[in-house]
Amino acid sequence: MTTLHKDSLQQRLEESMKTLPSALQSAIAPLINEQFTGVIAKEQFLSLLSQSELSDKELRLALLPLAAAFSVAPISNFYVGAIARGVSGDLYFGANMEFSNVQLGQTIHAEQSAISHAWIHGETGILDITINFSPCGHCRQFMNELTTADSLMVQLPERDEKSLQEYLPESFGPKDLGIEGGLLAKVSHKLTFESNSPLLITAFEAANRSHAPYSKNFSGVALEMNNGNIYSGMYAENAAFNPSLPPLQVALVHANMSREALSEIKKAALIEDHKGAISHLAITTCTLKDLSPNMVLEYVSL
Ligand SMILES: [Zn+2]
Repeated sequence: MTTLHKDSLQQRLEESMKTLPSALQSAIAPLINEQFTGVIAKEQFLSLLSQSELSDKELRLALLPLAAAFSVAPISNFYVGAIARGVSGDLYFGANMEFSNVQLGQTIHAEQSAISHAWIHGETGILDITINFSPCGHCRQFMNELTTADSLMVQLPERDEKSLQEYLPESFGPKDLGIEGGLLAKVSHKLTFESNSPLLITAFEAANRSHAPYSKNFSGVALEMNNGNIYSGMYAENAAFNPSLPPLQVALVHANMSREALSEIKKAALIEDHKGAISHLAITTCTLKDLSPNMVLEYVSL
């Protein structure tokens, strides 16, 4: 299954390459190999800018089909790509992910994917996001949770760049609930836990980095694939509650952008703070069982 997924992703990337301006095609070709996981370092981006002779905006827009190639959309067949630029200047691809047989609330939007991808890599804010379709209301609200929500710029094809606040006038956000900081702020909740299991330690570290100022459900998920690779996800809570992105979803973004097939999940771990007002256990179990029916979930309530 892994090979099939890799082949089809690589095929989609190579098909998408054909849509790029020819100077960009040759400049980016060495990057788009089987190890490409949708991260373009600042230096690589600057090099692509000079080789392609495109503007910053033109280059980001040109790269969107490559981001959308990571889409998993068995329900809508609607492929959305997003590129988030972290405060470090590095760029992170994201794409929408849909899951058959589970409720639609489990869906991950491309903007959530790109932002989670940047967070996993340690970014503490997002400077701008480039998307191939207008951001839905859910994503505008999700992005309003970011540390950089007041300065975040949004770029769409054939549009002038606008700020998130122009897309979301009179917005409601963390400050309305007295919360300082925001999503992607560097935090440690000082939870403590001891284990020899790399899977549990990974889930625990994710819980310590999670953003859950409303429910206090500091939580993290780790996924171990049949090939032994482990991916983590932190909970990303939202002031408007419903646009919150559960820790499983962030871990699934991590695995998907790392070119893994989700049916290859062998083990999973969910760790959450028992003092939180909610629990992810039931929905995490349900979605994981559907993706990989034989996987084993370990659960720790701290
Ligand atoms: Zn959306």
